[in-house]
Amino acid sequence: MGSLSRRHFCLCCMTGAAFASTGGWLSPRQAFAEARGVVTLIKDSAASSPVTSYKLHGNLSVLEGSGGNIAVLTGSDGKVLVDGGISVSRPQLTKTLSSLGSEPITHLINTHWHFDHTSGNEWLHAVGAKIIGHENTRKHLSEVQRVEDWDYNFLPLSAGVIPSEVLSANRKFTLNGASIELKPYNPAHTDSDLSVTFAEADILHTGDTYWNGVYPFIDYSTGGNIDGMIAASDANLAASTDNTIIIPGHGKPVSNKSELKEFRDMLIGIRDNVAALKKSGRTLEETVAAKPTAIYDAKWGQFVIDPAFFTKLVYEGV
Ligand SMILES: [Zn+2]
Repeated sequence: MGSLSRRHFCLCCMTGAAFASTGGWLSPRQAFAEARGVVTLIKDSAASSPVTSYKLHGNLSVLEGSGGNIAVLTGSDGKVLVDGGISVSRPQLTKTLSSLGSEPITHLINTHWHFDHTSGNEWLHAVGAKIIGHENTRKHLSEVQRVEDWDYNFLPLSAGVIPSEVLSANRKFTLNGASIELKPYNPAHTDSDLSVTFAEADILHTGDTYWNGVYPFIDYSTGGNIDGMIAASDANLAASTDNTIIIPGHGKPVSNKSELKEFRDMLIGIRDNVAALKKSGRTLEETVAAKPTAIYDAKWGQFVIDPAFFTKLVYEGV
């Protein structure tokens, strides 16, 4: 199946009505129904969202508004992108990328396989980008991929637009005068997560192991788990100083160590609450009803992964 079918897959069979305001807690059944709309919600929102760029140190910027946050390194070797966003926002992305310089896009790094980071692979490859990613990103993008918690089947990308260069261990290279290092995580958000660091600028892109200020998705269908998310957060903290600019996969795109620490502490707090409920014999429905995320919801529960859905994701892994 080509990427065209993949791109149009959800638009014909999903309904935005699932996202009508629910005004509070959902039963697990309602939460799952709502989750089915996540893919559509994210795509639809990208199609109409502006893409905003934020200048960081040196020749680095971060772009927000097309799925996951996209880092851009400019220079004479061509633009290097960390994640390719969602294909529907190509017009906005093209415009914003042009405003950063006239050089072509030569390299694209996929932080993991999810569509909101890789659906731009097709057009970015067409304009000449070489695609680099974890070996499991290549594997997942080559097959029909079912994500159980989204109740969704992603169709494979075509052969030319999956990563042509893959890694399963740390790799360093230099482009545009920047020392770039790719490091695979142990399974966390998925089993295909990579971090990308730019040494001189002191910038860390965490992919979806870190969502700034919002509950994260955890993809158990392709190897993710809550304890892996906590371990990845510890690895991200260890890789950062108080001066490091941290680019999260989602959420406010320019972050720092103290915000990352809050995220890690939130994950641990909720993991412990949910684990205690599950250990005492509570069903998933009873655990959701006990509101184990309550003290965190005002801050973290305002995005697509709502408190009931996040509780389910944690329950699944403890
Ligand atoms: Zn993801």
